[in-house]
Amino acid sequence: MLKEVRVRNAPSPTGFLHIGGIRTFLYNYLFARKNNGKYILRIEDTDQARLVAGSLENIVQSLADLGISADEGPYWDNGLKTRGDKGPYVQSERLDLYKKYAQELVDKKFAYYCFCSAKRLEELRNDQEAKKFPPKYDKRCLNLSPDEIAKKISSNESHVIRLNVQPDQMIEFHDLVYGDIKISSNEIDDQILLKSDGFPTYHLAVVVDDYLMQISHVIRANEWIPSTPKHILLYKAFGWDLPEFVHLPPILSKKTGKKLAKREGDVAVAAFLEKGYLPAAIINFLALLGWNPKTEQEIFSLTELVNEFSFDKLHKSGAIFDLDKLDWFNSVYIRKLKIDELLVLCLPYLIKAGIKIDRYPKNFIQKILTLEQERLKKLSEIGDRVKYFFQEQDYEPQLLIWKKTDKQTILKNLNSLQKFLQSLPEQKFAEDALEQEIKKFLEEKNIRTGEALWPLRVALTGLEASPGPFEIMDAFGILPDGKEIILQRINKAIEKLF
Ligand code: GLU
Repeated sequence: MLKEVRVRNAPSPTGFLHIGGIRTFLYNYLFARKNNGKYILRIEDTDQARLVAGSLENIVQSLADLGISADEGPYWDNGLKTRGDKGPYVQSERLDLYKKYAQELVDKKFAYYCFCSAKRLEELRNDQEAKKFPPKYDKRCLNLSPDEIAKKISSNESHVIRLNVQPDQMIEFHDLVYGDIKISSNEIDDQILLKSDGFPTYHLAVVVDDYLMQISHVIRANEWIPSTPKHILLYKAFGWDLPEFVHLPPILSKKTGKKLAKREGDVAVAAFLEKGYLPAAIINFLALLGWNPKTEQEIFSLTELVNEFSFDKLHKSGAIFDLDKLDWFNSVYIRKLKIDELLVLCLPYLIKAGIKIDRYPKNFIQKILTLEQERLKKLSEIGDRVKYFFQEQDYEPQLLIWKKTDKQTILKNLNSLQKFLQSLPEQKFAEDALEQEIKKFLEEKNIRTGEALWPLRVALTGLEASPGPFEIMDAFGILPDGKEIILQRINKAIEKLF
């Protein structure tokens, strides 16, 4: 029988969840879902000095916001909750387990107590550096007799437990992305497994937990490849079967071509969501960073990603982190929204921009959002884009001038338009009939469209770029005082040109 797929992410709560880092979570999640397996979240908080308050909540909540939730471990449901029967899922609550397994290794002589002081270790390192040797512990404490060890322990001498690496062994493992990897044990230090404060190091904890939580595939960033041989030695020492290893290619900076620097990729997921990136767009963007479904298709729903996901389509080389591409995905997803969905999503941004939306009819707001939907890259832009509908914007008179047209012509055209619009019944404004009427009028009067419609549009918006003047007037036409607003703005433009 095939082993159940059980995968995990093991973040350390040492900061907020970063956008680049999510990809590893996503691939684990997709692989679990694709194989009807379990997705587990485990919290690696063994480095107590680096803990950042609130980061556990941030990690779990950000994942929930993106639609990734753990089958076991902490998850977010109006607060931090935990589920699963292989817990605790937070390493600091598992210290007794690590102690027990470290002791088992000591008993089997795969590990040993080390009482060397920080000072001695530093001297050793300096000495090795001077001789250009790689820094390694010299196994001095391996030679302590059982009596000496017992005496030191009973007198509370500070100590750690180290892995006893045997020289001249070839350590081999297979990685599903990078293939067979081999390394000589001579290159591996006698790694500390249990620290003097009783906490395990990452290496001991990750192996013990992956084993006890029955992890089938370890899917993580390729920066962990150099640690994997140490883990292999531990699996062998315990006599445990190895999981499959899948190391993911790095994400590279578009600017430097190098591994994504902290500054670029470390923008918190929450910050992206706040700017109005849609979770589905973020997921789609991240999924394609280093994984290629080998079709022309670029837009994938989460369900489609689950169906398509497999390791053989993972790249070995790095993937470029391109924020323009994320913007593109986001605009595609924004265009897919139904107008009422867009309205709900835009509300907080409109309110934030100081727009008193409750004073306007819903169909007016819907109309202006429809106008912007095509060009919106992120929801947070909406306030700036539509504020002219709610408040007259200031602008330079020069903006009213269409190409090389002279000022007098523009002024004359605005005057004619104003008179004409004034003469139209209000009902025409409400009926979306202005386009036809105005075009007919311009034709009759032999007025060139650019020389009339450009200044009209600028008069209405105060902007260099916006939807067209007819669309804007149709929107204003929904308001009871739509005609008045339009005429007032044209008036203002005429004043500006004087
Ligand atoms: N705590 C490690 C990290 O945050 C986990 C590495 C692993 O998955 O083994 O990257």
